[in-house]
Amino acid sequence: MIKNKAIFLDRDGVLNREIGNYVTRVEDFEVLNHVPFLLKKLKDAGYLLIVITNQGGIAKDLYTHDDLKKNHQILINKLSEMDVLFTDIFYCPHHPEIGKCLCRKPESIMLEKAIAKHHIDIEQSYMIGDTDRDIQAALAVGVKSFKIDSNADWGSVVDSILK
Ligand SMILES: [Mg+2]
Ligand SMILES: [Zn+2]
Repeated sequence: MIKNKAIFLDRDGVLNREIGNYVTRVEDFEVLNHVPFLLKKLKDAGYLLIVITNQGGIAKDLYTHDDLKKNHQILINKLSEMDVLFTDIFYCPHHPEIGKCLCRKPESIMLEKAIAKHHIDIEQSYMIGDTDRDIQAALAVGVKSFKIDSNADWGSVVDSILK
C-alpha cells in the first residue's frame, strides 16, 4: 500500500492566535495571517494536513464540542479560499484536573490514530507545534518535529521541509 506523507499541526499558536487562555468565543478565534499560504505550499508538495490539538476547555465546561466546531469552521472556510483542506482534525477534549485520559499531548494516541487511519509514513512526516508537549508526542511516535514560537510565522520551517 502506498503511504502518505503528512504535516501534523498543533492548533493554538500555530494556526490561530494563542491568546494565553482557552479560545472559546468565535470572536477570539483569529487565523494567523501567514497560515493559509504556508499550508498551501505544503499541500502543493503533497502533504496531508492533520490537526492534533488539546482542547481541555471542553472538560472544564468552558466551551462545547459545537463551539469547537464553529471555530474550526472559521479555519476551514479561510483555508478553502486557498483551496486547502485538512485531511482530519483530532482533538482531546479531556483535562487532567477533571479526569485522566490517554490522548492528551504529550501522549501520542491522537498521532497514532492519525497515522493508522491515513496510512502515514512517519519517515516522511513532521509535527509543527509551539509547546514541548507537541514535540514529546511526535518524538514518541518517531515523527520529526519543529518547535516554533507561539504565533510566529513558520515560513522557515516550511522552507526546510521542502528543501
Ligand atoms: Mg499550541
Ligand atoms: Zn484526552
